[in-house]
Amino acid sequence: MDKRPYTVMLKPVGPTCNLDCEYCFYLEKWSLFPGRDTLRMSEDVLESFTRQYLADGSSGEVTFIWQGGEPTLIGLDFLRSAVELQTRYAGGRTIRNAIQTNGILLDERWCAFLAEHRFLVGISIDGPPEIHDCYRRTRGGAPTADRVLRSIALMKRAGVAFNTLTVVNRHNVMYPVAVYEFLREIGSGFQQFIPLVERILVRRKGEVLSLAGPPSDPEDSRVPTHVASWSVQPRLYREFLCSIFDRWVSRDVGRVFVQLFDGALRSWCGIGAGLCVFSEQCGDQLVLEHTGDLFSCDHFVYPAYRLGNILETSLGELVHAPAQARFGAAKQEGLPRQCLRCRMRFACNGGCPKHRFVRSVDGEPGLNYLCEAYRGFFAHIEPRMQAMARMLEVGIAPAKIMEGIRQEEARRRFTTAGRNDPCPCGSGRKFKYCCAELSSRP
Ligand code: SF4
Ligand code: SF4
Repeated sequence: MDKRPYTVMLKPVGPTCNLDCEYCFYLEKWSLFPGRDTLRMSEDVLESFTRQYLADGSSGEVTFIWQGGEPTLIGLDFLRSAVELQTRYAGGRTIRNAIQTNGILLDERWCAFLAEHRFLVGISIDGPPEIHDCYRRTRGGAPTADRVLRSIALMKRAGVAFNTLTVVNRHNVMYPVAVYEFLREIGSGFQQFIPLVERILVRRKGEVLSLAGPPSDPEDSRVPTHVASWSVQPRLYREFLCSIFDRWVSRDVGRVFVQLFDGALRSWCGIGAGLCVFSEQCGDQLVLEHTGDLFSCDHFVYPAYRLGNILETSLGELVHAPAQARFGAAKQEGLPRQCLRCRMRFACNGGCPKHRFVRSVDGEPGLNYLCEAYRGFFAHIEPRMQAMARMLEVGIAPAKIMEGIRQEEARRRFTTAGRNDPCPCGSGRKFKYCCAELSSRP
């Protein structure tokens, strides 16, 4: 029986949200709960989950991850109860809480609570206001960036630890530098970039979900689909990542933590990406819906991937059941030959199975839609990653790479300067009367 460590993402209000972002893939999960007006986790489910999660987890540290929909809609009183239950069942373990929010409801009261209980807040922000507001809007269509920025200011004032989650979509993908610089300016020291990839079912099947499920869903695979207009294009996603990486590696290593770059460095060090998308297997990040239903993964909240309900079967049994082990292993087993012979497979592992819906060069199904992005990005960063991995091996901080890049850059300026150009040394003299003369002396 597989006893790998796992985490569970909690959905206390299911897909309920106070925004109506055009690209959201989770809002339509309402159709999984027909006939319900409100979706809310009961005290029973919360108590049962907390007790079982803490009893089943083997490590000394356990993290509760609150997600949605918009999890703050559950209210502060619920989260206070959650923290009390965690303390009651902790059994000597260190408890951590992380919450992913759109930031709309955060006020002084919320920030005081989050700071007091050391919640790590992930705030969704897609870039500067004019970029963020392209898709992230209220139900009435109003922009939301100002509200999010106010919440970030409140969190900073209250001492709440936060990071940013940026959905890379068809609009902001065109502005990598503006997005990255903006995130730095607002003080995001930990940045996550998630590529947006969804398909629309062209012909509905009499069920309510209209986004296509995973390619492995036999029902959906019989229905024509097209890539949703808000999805990121692979070539632009590659350019987006490469542009941000180039800025980061020459200036911000050790200061700004970009989850994807850190994961890549781990891969080059041979210790596994630590990011599910680039890991060999899936299956260790499950989802608990408000009803107590446990699903294989946030990208697989579909009836076929419902493992059971924790009020009926124990959490441990569900997590370690053969069905979840099969789900985890399918990621590797389903790789097309193009991936199997790809030299970047150690860093990519074929990406998320949800996105494997295009054909490989051999015409085989199951290649990742983002393959071009991943292959190009990993090839682009390879020399720098190899250098940083070598540094780590001999006990040098990877941030030292920035010195080397500065020297490279200086050498490049000197070797490409024209004789009549200003001297790259900054003397104000012409190059031919300054360093060019010195460098040409015997
Ligand atoms: S299915 Fe995708 S999102 Fe889920 S664990 Fe696997 S790689 Fe991660
Ligand atoms: S880069 Fe493309 S071919 Fe290589 S492992 Fe990733 S998805 Fe497969």
